[in-house]
Amino acid sequence: MPLSEIVEGYRQFIVDLDGCVWLGSTPIPGSVEAIGCLRGSGKRVAFATNNPRRGNRDYVRKLSGIGIPVSSEDVVGVCDAVTDALASSHTGSRAVVIGAPPLVEAVEAAGVRIAGPEDEEPADIVVVGGTEELSYDDLRSATLAVNAGAELFATGRDPTYPMPDGLWPGTGAIVAAVEYATGRSAQVIGKPEPNLIRAALRRMGEGRTLVVGDRLDSDVAAATSAGLDAALVLTGGTREDEVGPGSAPESLAVADSLLDLVQEGARYPLRALAGAS
Ligand SMILES: [Mg+2]
Repeated sequence: MPLSEIVEGYRQFIVDLDGCVWLGSTPIPGSVEAIGCLRGSGKRVAFATNNPRRGNRDYVRKLSGIGIPVSSEDVVGVCDAVTDALASSHTGSRAVVIGAPPLVEAVEAAGVRIAGPEDEEPADIVVVGGTEELSYDDLRSATLAVNAGAELFATGRDPTYPMPDGLWPGTGAIVAAVEYATGRSAQVIGKPEPNLIRAALRRMGEGRTLVVGDRLDSDVAAATSAGLDAALVLTGGTREDEVGPGSAPESLAVADSLLDLVQEGARYPLRALAGAS
């Protein structure tokens, strides 16, 4: 099957995972085939995810397990970006972390110690990421630390997290609780900031690049801040009525799914993308 005209115009692709490739543990129909088509046509593909519930090794295993063989170089996860961001500036400090074990490990990998009840001094930083194990104790510790002067970081602001039965509360919903309680605004490390996209580009090298994601406020915004074109797929966190002509950014292509984008092209090529003319 030949590639669509839009996709043909790009040399490489940075693809989001949740809502593009899978929903929870269920692959989105056609996503494995779509990646296979791109690679089979000589395109380079990297994956960039804001989901802090897993680490890089888990993503390599999960992608390979559904039929997309990858190495750790092919996957940029937000936990790695957290380590990079904190290692340059916060080694030796103490942190309160709200998040799953991979995020805690990422903070520790930066040389940051996790604050415990025995600590008399308040923590220096608070790091918040999506988790399904949220407790009031977590919110209280984070709030007390920020109110005592700790810097507040977040892995992202995605309000929701697409799962097979609908949209679950995402990292942004938890970050909002801490921000609301403290009146402080978090520094975001993942998308919509361009860090993950830039990390993927450093690994892939130069070349005309299309970012593919399922959210305007994280994937598309990160592409824009990195100066790249973006395509939005409607298999995750965005409904069709949110991106109809007139309401979406002009530099955006919209497709029903990753497979549709790769084989049929965009449903709304609102503007000729850089590679599509
Ligand atoms: Mg997503």
